[in-house]
Amino acid sequence: MPIGCPTNFLKRKYSVIFGCLETNHMAYKKLPGFYPDQEEYQPGEELKDYLEEIYPPKSMATFDEMDNDLRADGELKNLVYESSILYILRRLVTTTEHFFRLNGENKIATNTALRYYLRNYTRYSDEQVNKLSKLLLPCMDTARNNFTDGDKNIAKQQKKYYQWACFVCGKEMNETTSATADHFWPRAMGGLSNSGNLRMVCQICNNNHKKDYINQADYHYEEIAISATDYKHYKGSGHPKIYEVAVFAKSNYCCEVCQEPAYRVGELTVGRIDLKDGWHYLNLAAFCLKHKPE
Ligand SMILES: [Zn+2]
Ligand SMILES: [Zn+2]
Repeated sequence: MPIGCPTNFLKRKYSVIFGCLETNHMAYKKLPGFYPDQEEYQPGEELKDYLEEIYPPKSMATFDEMDNDLRADGELKNLVYESSILYILRRLVTTTEHFFRLNGENKIATNTALRYYLRNYTRYSDEQVNKLSKLLLPCMDTARNNFTDGDKNIAKQQKKYYQWACFVCGKEMNETTSATADHFWPRAMGGLSNSGNLRMVCQICNNNHKKDYINQADYHYEEIAISATDYKHYKGSGHPKIYEVAVFAKSNYCCEVCQEPAYRVGELTVGRIDLKDGWHYLNLAAFCLKHKPE
């Protein structure tokens, strides 16, 4: 496995049929060994794992059918499932945030309000209410935690380690293009401000790596809607950056062919997996310039 390429997770993710979705969260974790806390889970990640436990994707017959008709090999179905899990996660986190603010950021009072809400406004069991509230409260801290000096140091080390290549697009950064630290698991959704969750990215990618997007499923509904016609229009003037970032996230910031991470192969570009097929999201991936299909 190439260092820093988060495990070719895409291949694994889509080759494994549902039921093995636990591989998904690895995308945020399997990074080079110098991260001292890489085994540490982000609070939002634990919440996501638990939601996947509550809602295992056992009955998605209709989506199976759609996926099969489009020969999407599980990708479409997985996006629908991921999006729904992320919707619930986001909704629970923002509801907790609401109670947190209402209660003057007092955790005990928030906990009481949250439990009351979950018991009376949802149909979660007592056990689920307990577990959910335990997982949700730590997510209130992450949005408020700032970088520590130690984390700032790690960010500096990362710049050196990645040889000033942006983790997302692979383009070279320098002192003046201002490399910035980006939270890969968003702070607002339970991502810690620590070295295990920070990547050095260029300013442009940071602006387009949407603040509270968790993974490619979050970009999915927004970006999949760009039609072939629009795409041609964009093609002349370059792709809209956010669309590129969505596709790079889909390929996990690695080249689809050599599976090397952007920061090692240099600039990534968007291309079609099957050249006979159109420019739709399911047929797009990130490629290094050497493996660019056309
Ligand atoms: Zn970049
Ligand atoms: Zn390549």
